[in-house]
Amino acid sequence: MARKSNQANESTEVNVAAQHDSTTPERGMSLVDEALLGMAASAGSPAGQGDPLVEEAPPPDPFATYWTEFDLRCRDCQVTHYVPICLFVNAEESPELVQRIISSHFNMKRCPVCRQIEYVEHPYSYYDPTRKLIVQVRPEWEWHAGGGDDWYAARLEDLFDKWAEHDVRIEVVFGPQPLIDRFLQDVPPPPARR
Ligand SMILES: [Zn+2]
Repeated sequence: MARKSNQANESTEVNVAAQHDSTTPERGMSLVDEALLGMAASAGSPAGQGDPLVEEAPPPDPFATYWTEFDLRCRDCQVTHYVPICLFVNAEESPELVQRIISSHFNMKRCPVCRQIEYVEHPYSYYDPTRKLIVQVRPEWEWHAGGGDDWYAARLEDLFDKWAEHDVRIEVVFGPQPLIDRFLQDVPPPPARR
């Protein structure tokens, strides 16, 4: 009984909608339809003349894990090869990268010719959303090159400027080991593999 009355209600609604469409087609257009029409119109316009809101990509999430690519030369055999390098690690989004940092397998390059494996000393940032913490990991040699306290203060100032609008705490370390020692001690180990 209940099922039958439901069906009756549905068919009544369909009839009402159909009648509405046939009598007032213009008003039947939804906001989505209008947006699609607008996009089609700007797509047909000459390049550079369209609506900038439609043509520009949305701004990237500054807290997302981010990779780049470098052509790097092997120290041993001088071959230049392509290396993907992670510049920003979101610990929540990429727990596998956190494990690679801890096990010293992060941002390594492997020469395709001589198989030499080296750590790529490029600055990267570690972001822990739960602690609202960003740690910039700079190459260890910068510290030994005599930067010392002034260098550290300058890097910290740059970072503060960059993240001033966000509610995050900023730290700078030199080399991955201080990052591990100071901030990654309570990261749980990866789930055991079977
Ligand atoms: Zn090589």
